[in-house]
Amino acid sequence: MTVDPKHLRTTLIACLTFAVMVGCASAGASGRGGAVPPGTVPVGVAAIDITPTEPIRLSGYGDRRAPSDSVAQRLWAKALAFGGDGGDPAVLITVDLVGIPLSMTEEVARRLARAGIEREQLVVSATHTHTGPTLAGVLPGIFAEPMSTEQQAVVRRYSEQLVTKLEQVALAALADRRPAHLGWSQGRVGFAANRRVLREGKWTGFGVNPEGPVDHDLPVLRVTDPGGALRAVLLGYASHATTLAGKDNFVHGDWPGTAKEMIERRHPGAVALVTIGAAADANPEPRNGGVPDVLRHATQIADEVDRLLGAPLRPLTTAPRGRLRLLQLPFERTPPRPELERRAQKSDAEGLLARAALERLGRGEAMPATVAYPVQTWTFGEELAMVFLGGEVVVDYARRLKSELDASRLWVNAYSNDVAFYVASKRVMGEGGYEVDRSMLFYGQPARLAPATEDLIVDAVRALLPRDLARTAR
Ligand SMILES: [Zn+2]
Repeated sequence: MTVDPKHLRTTLIACLTFAVMVGCASAGASGRGGAVPPGTVPVGVAAIDITPTEPIRLSGYGDRRAPSDSVAQRLWAKALAFGGDGGDPAVLITVDLVGIPLSMTEEVARRLARAGIEREQLVVSATHTHTGPTLAGVLPGIFAEPMSTEQQAVVRRYSEQLVTKLEQVALAALADRRPAHLGWSQGRVGFAANRRVLREGKWTGFGVNPEGPVDHDLPVLRVTDPGGALRAVLLGYASHATTLAGKDNFVHGDWPGTAKEMIERRHPGAVALVTIGAAADANPEPRNGGVPDVLRHATQIADEVDRLLGAPLRPLTTAPRGRLRLLQLPFERTPPRPELERRAQKSDAEGLLARAALERLGRGEAMPATVAYPVQTWTFGEELAMVFLGGEVVVDYARRLKSELDASRLWVNAYSNDVAFYVASKRVMGEGGYEVDRSMLFYGQPARLAPATEDLIVDAVRALLPRDLARTAR
């Protein structure tokens, strides 16, 4: 059945508003109790509007001083639910936001546990749009001009409503489950550019580094009904959603939001979802040219998705099985007070970090030695492993995982379950710069991460994957 996306959303929102507890009876019934046709997997799809209903401080850029002035594009939370009630249903939620705090993911997980969703079967992933609302607990140190009490209240209200909406969209996707064919493929899109400009091996500033590594892979998951009609497309791409600039103080989904709209217009009835890869050091190029640049990037994504959908895809015949580990990543060190006081005199990022640490000690708080970090994997049998890393992960992680594991069965996502700091690699730590030091201040962290970080994360991914998918590529 083909459904107009507008009608679909209206129906879902109506369902969510009036019938969450009983589910949307017209959907879902065929996939939950009855026999599953061979080669199909029960899949549900849902979307819910998460556009702020009042002016709110937008997150991602520190130079904005006022709440949003308008809504240029609606923001969405979208969900895919996989698997029957007899197994362990899995839910992926994507959100048009700069990030999501671990505490919110855990709260959504607690609520969905009542619907039989195990924690490791839930992922919440953000598109990292820099024209979306601020959430309580994400990028607390970003603003040059701190939020007023009134603005903080708006952010708190939005954050509370969001939790309920994420629960609702997940439940709607679970209620929508019916037999579907899953297929996946990988293409390439070239607009992500390495943004770390170096001189003699050291970071000098933001820009375009044509020699710097990037990940241009574009993995796509296709969901079709048994008659072949497209129900959903999930795509991943490793670029910041920073086409729009700090001067753009309107609500917008940046290139992921516009790519989704384009795909849904080209495929009426289908819902498009976007996850972001290891994009911490990649910006879209060109950028800062406003909506025309956004359209340019989104068109490249939508065109490549259409090319992939028109070619044979590799079938996935099982629902995903998740595994999750909460690591404790060590900070590089916890400097003693005399050293902090000495460093606090400096005017660079090191001085800023030292002053923030001294304030913490002054409040009677201890310097934390580690920080929590979620690493999650979803495996579709032996056919595909999806990796979901928290935070802003630099490209080296995707490149290393794809070189050490079987890249032909690997899909690397970041900005998942928690966005609480940048995750630099050993190489990037050696070069220094924003993603290593200054960004930690914006995220409210006391120090840079230890060089052991990279191996801890890669080892955790390998340990979570079943033996066949964790093996070194031949
Ligand atoms: Zn970022």
